[in-house]
Amino acid sequence: MKIYKFGGASVKDAEGVRNLTKIVSKEKNNGLIIVISAMGKMTNALESIENLYVKGMPGLEEKFVEIKEFHESIMRELFNSDAEVFEKIAQVFQEIKNLTDKKPSMNRDFEYDKIVHFGEVLSSIIVFHYLKENGVTLQWVDAREVIRTDSTYREARIEWDTTASIAQEVFTDRQAIYITQGFIGSTLSNIPTTLGREGSDYSAAILAYVLKAESTTIWKDVPGILNADPRWCPDTIKISEISYREAIELAYYGAQVIHPKTMKPLQNKNIPLYVRPFSNPEEAGTIIHEVKDEISFPPIYIRKDNQVLISIQPKDFSFIAEDNLSEIFARLAKYRIKVNLMQNSAISFSIVADNDESRIFYFIGEMRNDFRVLYNQHLELYTIRHYNEEAINKIITGKEILLQQKSRRTARFLLR
Ligand code: ASP
Ligand code: MG
Repeated sequence: MKIYKFGGASVKDAEGVRNLTKIVSKEKNNGLIIVISAMGKMTNALESIENLYVKGMPGLEEKFVEIKEFHESIMRELFNSDAEVFEKIAQVFQEIKNLTDKKPSMNRDFEYDKIVHFGEVLSSIIVFHYLKENGVTLQWVDAREVIRTDSTYREARIEWDTTASIAQEVFTDRQAIYITQGFIGSTLSNIPTTLGREGSDYSAAILAYVLKAESTTIWKDVPGILNADPRWCPDTIKISEISYREAIELAYYGAQVIHPKTMKPLQNKNIPLYVRPFSNPEEAGTIIHEVKDEISFPPIYIRKDNQVLISIQPKDFSFIAEDNLSEIFARLAKYRIKVNLMQNSAISFSIVADNDESRIFYFIGEMRNDFRVLYNQHLELYTIRHYNEEAINKIITGKEILLQQKSRRTARFLLR
């Protein structure tokens, strides 16, 4: 059994759905689970709905109509106007409507998952019906009934044993084709959860792990893993083969091609991961697997935008010592702030994090009770794996360096 994951960009329009159908049609009788993301930018759009809903702001109705119209226009291109799928999709929109007609609770993350998870439900229903109409026999599986999690909303943790036993019961036919949703699951008491933004890759890896799949393929809008993001680097090089270890490092530093949690389940069961170009399905892409001999790489560049540098100093100019550090980390954990880089000097401790303002400002506010806290926003964090002087110059020239760190293989720069 294989897992194919299709991201939002691969199903952003009717053309994408047709292309997916071509790829999947080649796999008849082979045993396949299709894991699908929300179409195009629909997760962002649902995030806006959630934001307007929770804050009770105007514009919710317009946004709702926009999302509905986006899906319906794709459906109009794919189906006859009397197709069953229109009714199914209308029911999901009714569910969203019913939710947002009620008053929100005080738990923001819970409200988020309740609304935002519907993007994948919608896309999977549309793709399921299109595949079925085009001669692919398959079953639609509700990931909320399979992927079971704890109640850490927006970043739910997998209940591995429960998920494994349900998945093994649901995906029994190893010659069949199934379609399910990435990114979403539910608690043991059936409350919808999400696994963190871009989490569909992780869903694919979870299913591969619990079902001991033969391989996982992530179909993307890039030729494979590149040595930089083509959105900001014009001359990229494709990397054909890399080890799990290297892929974990790249994902950790923020390479967006794979979700950071994806590698571990695959590595644990030695399941190869292919990253392949959706628009050129004949091309090999990149394989990530166990590599015996060391591979030599070109410099690999990773950029994280919208970073904040927070410098923390004890108010009395005492040293930064273990007791301060444990307090700082306890609060970082409390606000679920992900630290991308840290550095300390005698009287100051600096962290670089994603500038998720809702979390960062609460954190800074609380820290200021006990520490002097300064911060700088709108920074870029660059990581260069397998760096050399030329690669470094390419990145830092003309920029102000606020922090830098080098190890044997990795150089990192916080720039303005
Ligand atoms: N749709 C979700 C997101 O955009 C999950 C994913 O695409 O992997 O974050
Ligand atoms: Mg997406």
